[in-house]
Amino acid sequence: MVYLTRKAEFSASHFYHNPEFTPEQNQRIFGKCNNPNGHGHNYTLEVTVKGAVDPKSGFVVDLKQLKDVMNREVLDALDHRFLNKEVPEFFTKIPTTENLAIAIWQRLAPKLTATQLHRVRVYETPDLFVDFYGEDFHDEESFGVTRERIREIETKALIALRKQRHT
Ligand SMILES: [Zn+2]
Repeated sequence: MVYLTRKAEFSASHFYHNPEFTPEQNQRIFGKCNNPNGHGHNYTLEVTVKGAVDPKSGFVVDLKQLKDVMNREVLDALDHRFLNKEVPEFFTKIPTTENLAIAIWQRLAPKLTATQLHRVRVYETPDLFVDFYGEDFHDEESFGVTRERIREIETKALIALRKQRHT
């Protein structure tokens, strides 16, 4: 078994807020991050897949497929977005780095068909990162939003964007 990691970077903004908390609790728990105008981060994503080395190609994974899936499923959806307002998973979940790692896992795992996803690591800063290994994560709906719903929202957003560009 070998492990292969691909890195990518994306920028996104967010804020932390839990509607079940009082304004004081939100302020106390989230501090500056509670500001609804948001603030940005340059995130680094590391996606690790695992498997046996193909004796014919010498590869563990088709690198182009991995890159395409990461671009399509993660970077196109998250890069230069206001996570709370533009990315469906975070309409209800707080876009912490922890939840980002889980959401990214949810987006990638079903698409990486030729290999097995091992770890999603998300750096919020060079000194702070979250690892998710997909443990206790089997239910497609466990993150509160189905993939179908994500597609639906993203398709609408894309149509709106196209319309904007043409007017
Ligand atoms: Zn932040």
